Amino acid sequence: MHPDTLSVHAGNMEDLIGSIVPPINLSTTFERNKDGVIGGKGFIYSRMDNPNRRSLEIKLALLEGGEEAFAFPSGNSAALAIAETVLEPGTHLIMPDDCYHGIAAMIRNLLPRWKVSHTEVNMSDAHNLENAIQKNTRLVLLETPSNPLLKITDISAVASIAKANGILLACDNTWATPLIQRPLEMGIDLVFHSSTKFFGGHSDILGGVVIVKKRNEISQRIREFQVVGGVVPSPFDCWLLNRSLSTLSIRLERQVKNALQIVEFLKTHPKVEKVYYPGLPDHPNHLIAKKQMNGNFGSMISIQVKGGEKEAMRFAANLEIFKHATSLGGVESLVEHRRTAEGMVPKSPDNLLRISVGIEYIDDLIDDLKKGFSG
Ligand SMILES: *Cc1c(COP(=O)(O)O)cnc(C)c1O
Repeated sequence: MHPDTLSVHAGNMEDLIGSIVPPINLSTTFERNKDGVIGGKGFIYSRMDNPNRRSLEIKLALLEGGEEAFAFPSGNSAALAIAETVLEPGTHLIMPDDCYHGIAAMIRNLLPRWKVSHTEVNMSDAHNLENAIQKNTRLVLLETPSNPLLKITDISAVASIAKANGILLACDNTWATPLIQRPLEMGIDLVFHSSTKFFGGHSDILGGVVIVKKRNEISQRIREFQVVGGVVPSPFDCWLLNRSLSTLSIRLERQVKNALQIVEFLKTHPKVEKVYYPGLPDHPNHLIAKKQMNGNFGSMISIQVKGGEKEAMRFAANLEIFKHATSLGGVESLVEHRRTAEGMVPKSPDNLLRISVGIEYIDDLIDDLKKGFSG
């Protein structure tokens, strides 16, 4: 079935009364058979597995095209699950230099205590990866498009370098989603997401997911980290996310359509210094993006505003529909001064604003942007 159909139906379990919408099951424990053996559906205790998490994981695995999915309470814990599972003391990890700052903080602050070292690499050129590989490199993390500079990594090129060196590859597919980009079909072993973003889509659930291409020793260890580590989302969060996924395809379609028109407006605006969007022909990796994102470029845009931080902040403050807030991928349009959000290790230019385009009516969005520049 097509992902648009899977996102509505996959994983929904039949129940005794024929519910079309899966119920929320809050039970923490499940009855055993009279002989003490685990019941037919295999549920024992909610941390191990529960109906809402199982439904969600089935849907996510099918959507991303992997053999198994693991739901986590945040995108960061999904990335931590991969790190904990793949890395051991004395090993080395390679991450993008434009890595989402929360995951970069995890790698910089937590992993050194486990004696795991890392190198930050500009992955826009796959050759840079080759030079960074060490004898003890076990894992390469990718994020494409990257946050907030929308750098593009050539997934297939990086995958063949990593494969030749026996290194596992994990790709953060949060910004593209499997409806636009399918890393598991391009040589990636593990995909992860912050489902807080496009999957949730309404800025009301924190969540994460790991999807593996193959069931193997690594996937067993990820399950162990989730279940024994107790890193699990609640049944309600799973239910809410499952519901949100049903509308992913139509939300995304509208968001991308709006984003294209907003890029058209911004790219010639006299107060805009630079537009970052992989759909622009002058983006350094435009052709790679076109190929690996199925001719689609997502709904995230970054801009540099002329006149420095002061003008960027003034523009953001003048907007009414675009709220100034962190996060992305929701139905509501947001704008964010990225440098302020990056905390202790800011790296974005001080006049950079990141725009997450929502599903509002396009003329209202463009009018709001005009007001931002003129106000
Ligand atoms: C938000 C985000 C994360 C972290 O996810 P949380 O759900 O906030 O823990 C990871 N990667 C990307 C690209 C993100 O945008």
